[in-house]
Amino acid sequence: MVSRVIPVDEFDLVIFGGTGDLARRKILPGLFRRYLAGQMPKGSRIIGAARSEMDSDGYRAMIAEAIAEFGGEERKDSTELNGFLETLHYVAIDAQGDGGWTELFDVTRDGVIQAFYFSVAPSLFGDLAERLHKHGIADDTSRIVVEKPFGRDLASAKALNDTLAAHFEERQIYRIDHYLGKETVQNLMAVRFGNVLFEPLWNSHYVDHIQITVAETVGVGGRGAYYDKSGAMRDMVQNHLMQLLCLIAMEPPSVFGADEVRDEKLKVIRALQPVEPHHIVRGQYDADADSPSYRADVENPRSFTESFIAMKVQVSNWRWADTPFYLRTGKKLKGRASEIAVVFKDLGHSIFEGDTARHRNILAIRLQPNEGMDLQVTIKEPGPGGMRLIDVPLDMTFADALGEDSEPATDAYERLIMDVIRGNQTLFMRGDEVEAAWAWTDPLIDGWEGRNDVPKHYEQGSAGPEDAMMLMHRDGRRWRDIKG
Ligand code: NAD
Repeated sequence: MVSRVIPVDEFDLVIFGGTGDLARRKILPGLFRRYLAGQMPKGSRIIGAARSEMDSDGYRAMIAEAIAEFGGEERKDSTELNGFLETLHYVAIDAQGDGGWTELFDVTRDGVIQAFYFSVAPSLFGDLAERLHKHGIADDTSRIVVEKPFGRDLASAKALNDTLAAHFEERQIYRIDHYLGKETVQNLMAVRFGNVLFEPLWNSHYVDHIQITVAETVGVGGRGAYYDKSGAMRDMVQNHLMQLLCLIAMEPPSVFGADEVRDEKLKVIRALQPVEPHHIVRGQYDADADSPSYRADVENPRSFTESFIAMKVQVSNWRWADTPFYLRTGKKLKGRASEIAVVFKDLGHSIFEGDTARHRNILAIRLQPNEGMDLQVTIKEPGPGGMRLIDVPLDMTFADALGEDSEPATDAYERLIMDVIRGNQTLFMRGDEVEAAWAWTDPLIDGWEGRNDVPKHYEQGSAGPEDAMMLMHRDGRRWRDIKG
């Protein structure tokens, strides 16, 4: 099958921080894939802008290396690569001074779509926004893309929003949460709102509970100093897990439009109840024979920051009253697996004599590995052994089911960047959403800091601290296995 590529108009994309880790690992290799897919219109340009002194040829060499290292399996035909590299330009710029801005003005053009990707520390967002205007580079048709973290609490997120709002309107601001760019996440909405099957059951009459797990096998890597000031709650829950929860819990919007979807997500965040302290389990990984503990990794022997968190969250509205959402995420766990599981209620009565097992329908949405979904259904065990029931998954791994059309190599970043060029904000967080998320998060963090809560220990390669298991067991439920 031929994949369908929706064309976009000619654009100039300026990447501030164009020499950084994110640009080299994700943004540029992703753009190269879009180029290969024929989605970069002739004349479009990518302009790296960063602190290092180099010329455009130097930048092209740097990005060629990055594509070789991080570009995945796509064709590396040198004609195509060279064609892509020709679209690259570079300007050495100082976000906090005036150096390079005249050159950037000269390089950018009127009459094409203009997007500015702020792939730099958030402390520079204000400087960039201000200078883009001061030097006459951006106007009211330009778009800016900003990276996470968007604040570390409500006050700093508000300050960031205010800074950006001083120069750009909300319709121009694209706050990236790359989880929203994942194929499966978008498919979640297609499955929910494009089928008659699920929506009637999508409420607390039929859904027992929902589990959202984002498990990593890696530790804090080289980000120790940053991570220790952040922790799993700020780094993962406040943004990624919260966004997933919103997509599961939201009411159907009237149309799949940017504000319609975001209005519904905002209502969910505002309906989140404060979480009771005994419904939160925080953890830190211990050392094992081969690798250091969390505290050693972040070089802070007295750190109380969590590398794992599990919590029971309640959405207080008609649809979800009595259906808890259990969230968990952590580092150095037994698998690299992200999954949303919608666990339906038991049948009230079984007509099958002797069948005492608990059969449950579970819709599992896998973000990684093997993006896809499976629906656990109960069937008769084949054979002459009488009416014995077993649970089997109806598995739909997108790569198997859809073949080439699933574009498995397509990364969330490149989808989202193309949405920026198309001017579609649906999969980006709106300012009020981010603030509402922090308004819910802040008191929880203040709470455990005020209680001097000490994170529980957990073994590397486990599913997290024992208390996280107890969080479920107390409610007569259990976490799904972390596979991956
Ligand atoms: P990095 O440190 O690797 O790169 C920073 C870039 O900013 C470099 O290109 C540098 O030249 C440029 N820069 C720094 N100070 C500057 C100045 N005064 N003027 C002009 N340019 C300047 O950082 P990164 O890992 O690429 O992260 C960039 C942003 O993306 C950060 O906000 C980070 O939180 C966010 N982010 C990164 C990742 C990731 O995987 N790396 C993931 C999610 C979010």
